[in-house]
Amino acid sequence: MAANYKAELVGVLGCPVAENPTGVMQEAAFRAAGLDWRYLTIEVTPENLAAAVEGARAFGMRGFNLTIPHKVAVIPLLDEIAPEAKVIGAVNTVRREGDRFVGENTDGKGFLRGVRTDAGIDPAGKRVVLLGAGGAARAIATELLLAGVSDLLVVNRSRERGEAMAAHLRATTGGPIRFENWEGTCRVTEGVDLLVNATSIRLYPDIQAMPDVDLSAAPSGLLVCDAVFNPPETRLLRAARERGLACLDGLSMLVYQGVIGFRMWTGQDPAEAVMTRALRNALGV
Ligand code: NDP
Repeated sequence: MAANYKAELVGVLGCPVAENPTGVMQEAAFRAAGLDWRYLTIEVTPENLAAAVEGARAFGMRGFNLTIPHKVAVIPLLDEIAPEAKVIGAVNTVRREGDRFVGENTDGKGFLRGVRTDAGIDPAGKRVVLLGAGGAARAIATELLLAGVSDLLVVNRSRERGEAMAAHLRATTGGPIRFENWEGTCRVTEGVDLLVNATSIRLYPDIQAMPDVDLSAAPSGLLVCDAVFNPPETRLLRAARERGLACLDGLSMLVYQGVIGFRMWTGQDPAEAVMTRALRNALGV
């Protein structure tokens, strides 16, 4: 057989991006699958995003991830946007179909897979309190509504952003979503099944911060989820564990969104345990 020294390329475009550990996880999965693929972690400033996407086309990249601040700005640069990504209004994964770039959003799907697989809970019919109204919150809210939750209360610091998100998702999904402004302490009381933190509070390096949440009246069956993954044991999750509540950390969402991305790019199922181990090693947890 003729030698082939040409690797297939995927990667992530973001700014800043140096602390994004996704490449470690994807490259471990490529190696485990015997694929000569590379995942490049590429810093791209907002003014260079269009040129970077054209560069990805020129390099014949199989696809790429997008992180802060490019998830919305990339949309007009792509050839097609998948229906859920359109509802969410943001793209975190691009896959190549022929010579077309298709925008997808795997954040909410990754979160949902974690709820189902790692926490063993079916979100259908559940009552959810979701903290935050940024990109991750939008993705999570969309998938929860599509999965049939019975009530989704969005709590956000900025009223304008939270109201706009709830109105948009009510109109696009027809789902039971409502909004409350985050003023003072958010008390989680009887009747809530899932609490999800999708704010950037306690995002590395601000590791001592904690969302202002009171769990003292939380029901014993509550599942507490955090999208923040670095470090995965956030103060919110520690507080929940101390109360004996079930927890789902942000690593679960990160691994599963990566699993979905791997499948979109390669058409193969990755070794999920290898991805989790690589990520845990990289983060030292
Ligand atoms: P955005 O910047 O889009 O949104 C940030 C959200 O956090 C907003 O709702 C903002 O409220 C809120 N917020 C920030 N600081 C505070 C504060 N001090 N008090 C109250 N609310 C605050 O970020 P993303 O949605 O992209 O990311 C959110 C989190 O999700 C990050 O920690 C990110 O790392 C994580 N994430 C995890 C993923 C995973 O796979 N595990 C995937 C994607 C994201 P306001 O509107 O008032 O500003």
